Amino acid sequence: MKSLNPDSCSPSHNFTMTPGRTFDVVYVEDGLDPNRVQEILLRVQPKEVIPIGHYKDVFCRPHQDVVLQRQAPALILAAKRAPFFYPGAPVCQSFGNEHFYYTSLAMNCLFDCEYCYLQGMYPSGNVVIFLNYGDYLDELNHLLTHHPVYLCLSYDSDLFPIEHLSGAISFWLDVASTKKNLRLEIRTKAAPHHLRPLPNVYYAYTISPQPVISAYEHKAASLTQRLASAAEAIANGCKVRLCFDPMILVPHWRAVYGEMLSQVLSIIPIEQLSDVSIGSFRISKDYLKILRRIRPDGAIAFYPFVLKDGYYHYPDDIAAGMQQFITQALVPRLGAERLYFDQDSL
Ligand code: SF4
Repeated sequence: MKSLNPDSCSPSHNFTMTPGRTFDVVYVEDGLDPNRVQEILLRVQPKEVIPIGHYKDVFCRPHQDVVLQRQAPALILAAKRAPFFYPGAPVCQSFGNEHFYYTSLAMNCLFDCEYCYLQGMYPSGNVVIFLNYGDYLDELNHLLTHHPVYLCLSYDSDLFPIEHLSGAISFWLDVASTKKNLRLEIRTKAAPHHLRPLPNVYYAYTISPQPVISAYEHKAASLTQRLASAAEAIANGCKVRLCFDPMILVPHWRAVYGEMLSQVLSIIPIEQLSDVSIGSFRISKDYLKILRRIRPDGAIAFYPFVLKDGYYHYPDDIAAGMQQFITQALVPRLGAERLYFDQDSL
């Protein structure tokens, strides 16, 4: 069995992708492992390094310009405090797993999706990377003594663009390789290569039409790149999930999503997918309010949504129509039992 070193950040991962942008400014919280910090600073080569007492001193400052910061974020290196795992939100798909958790290994993202709910959730657009994975592992081991765990790693950030700094994916793949009662989902809008196949790890690709990517998913991989990465992962024996979620109501959406489906069906061996999730855009009432304030020119946020149970959705008939459009294309090759939906819209 491979030993785990919770304090190691050596990028021993066996996948590659182009590293993301560098950071001009790095804030370093007190008390971190100096070797890890030094290793990261050597990779980043920032113009300025600023010691801080607690990451919230910087991250939670009032009156930050989130949109501007997301375009050129600072990096904050920090240690997370408990709790390390949170129960999955009702609007997130559990894929039939009873004990569904997510964790926050980093906060914010090098991609800049206009509809990203993180903009409504965090007071800052700067990127935090937590380094104390050993503490997470202690809590996970405790959870696993009670029941199996389905854990989503990348709800609060896309981890692939920062993997060359954090080593987070590599670390958690090593953990998954030793624990049969742990299932991981790693969701991405990147296009990584040489992914490591493990029976309990799902690589989940968010799939959007290229016009949606070009208009709203800034800096993320193109549709062609994502599909090529997913096809390679399937060929290498990885479990791959495609997420047509969030579907965005754009003009002529049937034509736009139809063109995307043609590309998907021609590149991906659909029968070999683990499963597929389908859902239209939805966002909590509070986050939408903030999104409208900070992106007043954003086209997505100003749709006249319907409010249900604290979340804004497209009207039921529109959301259901969008989901059925994808479903009808995939069912003949995948089977209905491997499709999962945003139930609120059906
Ligand atoms: S990839 Fe995900 S986390 Fe990153 S900006 Fe887009 S929606 Fe937000």
